[in-house]
Amino acid sequence: MGTAKMQQSEITIQDARLAMETDLQARSPNYYDEGRLCIVRCFICESKHGRENYGPAVASGECTHCGWPKKKISHPKATRQARIDWLLAHQTLWEGWPSGNTPREIPTRKWITIVDAMREAGLVSAKTNWRDVNLTNLIHDARRQRRMDGRKTEP
Ligand SMILES: [Zn+2]
Repeated sequence: MGTAKMQQSEITIQDARLAMETDLQARSPNYYDEGRLCIVRCFICESKHGRENYGPAVASGECTHCGWPKKKISHPKATRQARIDWLLAHQTLWEGWPSGNTPREIPTRKWITIVDAMREAGLVSAKTNWRDVNLTNLIHDARRQRRMDGRKTEP
């Protein structure tokens, strides 16, 4: 009972925060598409002019940099999905990546190249070592999402 009550008030605070932040975000060049606020520039990241969002993330309504609207602090899940979206937008980079986890099969040079490109896109922090980005895992998920999306678009 006590726990349920606490959770409820937390949700209310979250809703209030989200409503306030949505007010901040609901301005040009951001726009609504079928009720979803698309984030071209994030005014949570940069209140004056907005920070340019990563292109493919605009329609998702989430900011790639801060993870808004989920959480202002970095949200591992949002970051992970942003990385997967990025991989799907750059499939030629990882074409033929081994699906198994045998370390010697993994193309190290390719790995570094991809992580550097992700870093440039703001999806990997400057401090993160390329080895710590589990590409095999991310590519596995990207392939799975591609299969699912493929199924969705079939008639
Ligand atoms: Zn942001």
